[in-house]
Amino acid sequence: MKHYSAFAIAREALRGHTGWERAWRKATPKKKYDVVIVGAGGHGLATAYYLGKNHGIKNVAIIEKGWLGGGNTGRNTTIIRSNYLQDPSAAIYEKARSLYETLSQDLNYNIMFSPRGVLMLAQTEHEARGYKRTAHANALQGVDTEFVSPERVKELCPIIELSGPRYPVLGALWQARAGTARHDAVAWGYARACSDMGMDIIQKCEVTGVRSDNGQVSGVETSQGSIDCDKLCIVVAGHSGHLAEMAGFRLPVESVALQAMVSEPIKPCMDVVVMANTVHGYMSQSDKGEMVIGGGADGYNNYTQRGSFHHIEETVRALIETFPMISRLKMLRQWGGIVDMTGDRSPIISTTPLGNCFINCGWGTGGFKAIPGSGWATAEMVAKGEPGPLAAEFGLNRFREGRFIDESVAAGVAH
Ligand SMILES: Cc1cc2nc3c(=O)[nH]c(=O)nc-3n(C[C@H](O)[C@H](O)[C@H](O)COP(=O)(O)OP(=O)(O)OC[C@H]3O[C@@H](n4cnc5c(N)ncnc54)[C@H](O)[C@@H]3O)c2cc1C
Repeated sequence: MKHYSAFAIAREALRGHTGWERAWRKATPKKKYDVVIVGAGGHGLATAYYLGKNHGIKNVAIIEKGWLGGGNTGRNTTIIRSNYLQDPSAAIYEKARSLYETLSQDLNYNIMFSPRGVLMLAQTEHEARGYKRTAHANALQGVDTEFVSPERVKELCPIIELSGPRYPVLGALWQARAGTARHDAVAWGYARACSDMGMDIIQKCEVTGVRSDNGQVSGVETSQGSIDCDKLCIVVAGHSGHLAEMAGFRLPVESVALQAMVSEPIKPCMDVVVMANTVHGYMSQSDKGEMVIGGGADGYNNYTQRGSFHHIEETVRALIETFPMISRLKMLRQWGGIVDMTGDRSPIISTTPLGNCFINCGWGTGGFKAIPGSGWATAEMVAKGEPGPLAAEFGLNRFREGRFIDESVAAGVAH
């Protein structure tokens, strides 16, 4: 694969952009792979990438029923942060955030990581106490966050209204090296690097069944035929329950639609991300100038990948309280993605009751930020057959043993 560089851009500009290669090969399934990964979202692709990079396992297929990055990875609002409360969460999210810092160089693909800082507003005394506690926990975990005053919030985000009609801003949890990245580019960058290592990314290929032999996985049935494999890793977010059923086990997850929307582009007015959990809305400004706005999750299980009017109304109302100057903005688009929610709002990175079948799911409303760390940890588990230190606490057995990793505060607003 040719290296992207300033020199390559200049060379291609001079010859009419005729020399660019396809970013990844179009692959057709082989009869057998060492590892089959189901789902070419960010987590599936990152798992494949670190399997090759960290463990030298490259006979890998990533099977995707639609197009790569077309699930939640291409539908999210791209907030990256690691200010979680519990130690296992802080460790994996901070690993991911720190990998994001150099991911563009690592992949030789500009993922547009923008560490512009994230403010999580405290708008009740209870929330303020919760975020102060998180800031203290983060200090012990080596995650750089602080609880800041309302005045500092206004300094960081001048368009904010501190004394909203319902809830005043009492302070915020501030993580200066948190931010955003271009979601498609994360998927595309990993895909290009996987293809470059000789892995097959097979799009428009739906997995319809999981085959096993004596309690060990032996392959998958797909819309493009049977594929054998030594190991299988299921990474399909909102569709995890279906794949688990094919593999013969049940998961403690629920699938719901989570929504977002984007406004018309306007001049730069906000260079941080603001999350307002109490009124329930969050916003950042894209490089194009659009205001990227996160809405809520449906209160019932469903698989509809689209937005709905009541969420637009609720979210816009919350944001106008927080940022009155956006009240005359026109909204351009709204959409939804199917997210997989666990009871403790923490992910599952686990072995399963089927031998050599692994699962990565349950990232719910907040898994984009975790992609590099999750891929790193899942690849280690698949390569070694058991979870390493980053994934050890996120096993399925925690639900049986009551070892929940409660992140309902950190995951409070749908992000
Ligand atoms: C509106 C919205 C906003 C969000 N905002 C944020 C945010 O700001 N920050 C954050 O950190 N997270 C956010 N998230 C969550 C984040 O997007 C997800 O946690 C993350 O993208 C999950 O990645 P994934 O690779 O696991 O899943 P996906 O990207 O959904 O990939 C799974 C893939 O599996 C494929 N698949 C499913 N079934 C099959 C099958 N049978 N055979 C083959 N392939 C199959 C799907 O087509 C899909 O492409 C948001 C989500 C949504 C919907």
